[in-house]
Amino acid sequence: MWTAIAQHISAKTGMPFSVDERRSVSGGCINQAYQLTDGGQTFFVKINQATQVAMFEAEALGLQDIYDSQTIRVPRPICWGTADGTAYLVLEWLDFGSSQDPAWALMGQQLAALHRVSSDRGFGWHQNNTIGATPQPNPWTETWLDFFREHRLRHQFRLAGRRGGHFPRQHEVFMALPELLAHHYPEPALVHGDLWSGNAAVTKAGEPVILDPATYYGDREVDIAMTELFGRFPPSFYEAYQAAYPLDEGYPRRKTLYNLYHILNHFNLFGGSYESQANRMIDQLLR
Ligand code: ADP
Repeated sequence: MWTAIAQHISAKTGMPFSVDERRSVSGGCINQAYQLTDGGQTFFVKINQATQVAMFEAEALGLQDIYDSQTIRVPRPICWGTADGTAYLVLEWLDFGSSQDPAWALMGQQLAALHRVSSDRGFGWHQNNTIGATPQPNPWTETWLDFFREHRLRHQFRLAGRRGGHFPRQHEVFMALPELLAHHYPEPALVHGDLWSGNAAVTKAGEPVILDPATYYGDREVDIAMTELFGRFPPSFYEAYQAAYPLDEGYPRRKTLYNLYHILNHFNLFGGSYESQANRMIDQLLR
């Protein structure tokens, strides 16, 4: 398998490459990760079961879209495929360092620049992808209300129902959605889609990087909301973002709505107390 991956890398980069050293990289939630090097060139490789190749392809295409926007650093995707029954995704290797305040301000500015990238096809993306390991549908949709209701909230509620989740006020949330999103007409923005602190890093050279995206064109507030879900990013990030691209009025209430998507997804991935957390968020939204 490693030889096949090395050959694929060589074919894509046009430079001979063979794996002289392979090291395991920890920290991923879903895949096994490795550093491959020949002493000169170094790559980051994720592997999973062959059935997961579509997930890797969608991640690579999402990284490519963000990379092409030239707004914020992401690892450049090199190649992906299957070899010997294993799916792989090869990315440019980045050396991460400790994150410092100036880098977080730059992250805020650069994320704002990413969010200025829009689509004339509306909300959605050119293909479906995954959020964690959960399928994430992205059909092009004209309005944000329709997109978020059908392809984000209803989709996760449906999966959660199949998993045995109990959300007594679910229907009230759908009834309240037009009011929760009233007077809010965001431009479709290229979003990372899964922006918790584990997917944000800083290189040794001090450049902010975002990793492991679940890219689509959506309301940019979904990214800011998620940065506040599991512990906030440093204050300098929000100050710089707000200076570059101020958030619309009413964001704090929408934040809970947008994060409900991720908590439902966590229930679908991990079960447990995420069900009661989702119900508390629902109560908060309907207050
Ligand atoms: P998973 O898809 O399994 O969640 P991640 O994409 O989050 O995996 O990557 C796992 C870890 O590997 C990250 O926390 C990060 O520290 C490291 N990593 C990710 N991408 C790169 C890269 N391009 N270069 C170097 N290290 C990386």
